[in-house]
Amino acid sequence: MVFACADSRVCPSVTLGLQPGEAFTIRNIAAMVPPYDKTRYAGIGSAIEYAVCALKVEVLVVIGHSKCGGIRALNSLKDGDPDTFHFVEDWVRIGNPAKKKVQTECASLSFDDQCYALEKEAVNTSLENLKTYPFVKEGLEKGTLKLVGGHYDFVKAKFDTWEPKKDLDPIERLKDGFENFKVTIYDKKPELFEPLKAGQTPRYMVFACADSRVCPSVTLRLEPGEAFTIRNIAAMVPGYDKNRYAGIGSAIEYAVCALKVEVLVVIGHSKCGGIRALLSLKDGAPDTFHFVEDWVRIGYPAKKQVQTKYASLPFDDQCTELEKEAVNVSLENLKTYPFVKEGLANGTLKLVGGHYDFVNGVFSTW
Ligand SMILES: [Zn+2]
Ligand SMILES: [Zn+2]
Repeated sequence: MVFACADSRVCPSVTLGLQPGEAFTIRNIAAMVPPYDKTRYAGIGSAIEYAVCALKVEVLVVIGHSKCGGIRALNSLKDGDPDTFHFVEDWVRIGNPAKKKVQTECASLSFDDQCYALEKEAVNTSLENLKTYPFVKEGLEKGTLKLVGGHYDFVKAKFDTWEPKKDLDPIERLKDGFENFKVTIYDKKPELFEPLKAGQTPRYMVFACADSRVCPSVTLRLEPGEAFTIRNIAAMVPGYDKNRYAGIGSAIEYAVCALKVEVLVVIGHSKCGGIRALLSLKDGAPDTFHFVEDWVRIGYPAKKQVQTKYASLPFDDQCTELEKEAVNVSLENLKTYPFVKEGLANGTLKLVGGHYDFVNGVFSTW
């Protein structure tokens, strides 16, 4: 199934020598594929559905091209300006995520060169959008379907193809992530990074869950140098114990006594698997993991409290309460470290509890 621009110069049957019967073909302005939306995009949605579910095509190819008027229009749009067409601006805005990316990463390029980059980046947005169609997602997971990006450059007579970025191997993905960070943040803020080369003076020590959805650097926009950060299962802080908890104890001691952080923040979160595990534990039942149950039991006092206070609530709601109550137990445990206790007494240290709810997009503190 081929997605190409309506532009009269780029018919894929001609440029790729596709014979009758070879390619189910959609052509529209700028070869855009919008995300799944039954109300707004029934035309293209029905074509994708028919091609994938009935015709069982093997490859979805989105092809951008050089000197694309639709892409030029997208790159020219100013935020907040009124539209001059009934339909055109609204349509090309499907490529907005690509535009943002290009304008950030290629800020120094000329308008024409930005358009060229956007011709390719808009293809990536369309490929990402294709994954929002459940039958496409299913085909990708089963391996019956493949996504391909393409760019036809009729100025240089070149045709490039590539697989979507998400298919990068895990190491390439990391390199790509760093390259993005370097271009968009590191190189842009020498005033931030130069002083950090000499050392760190973070204001916060943050305890957060290891959960991949809750990195506090991302959700709280903490910059490099701002937060000395411990992440573990369920953001638990155990009480002072030199034998069992040297790892976390050494981090607290270093942050408080050497770095002199001002605030210790413990952050729980919604849908926490560690908290769920804690609430599911039956007294006296044997452990199934070597470590996990033993670790989450640090929050046991919170569990007892929630089970008493919220006995009538369903399990899921009890979990939500426990996510917050376990933070309180960790805050109490922090007070068992003599240097923390001293800092609190001196007024040089503050304890803060937090809960990040990614279901409702809420962050609360206390
Ligand atoms: Zn075009
Ligand atoms: Zn968690």
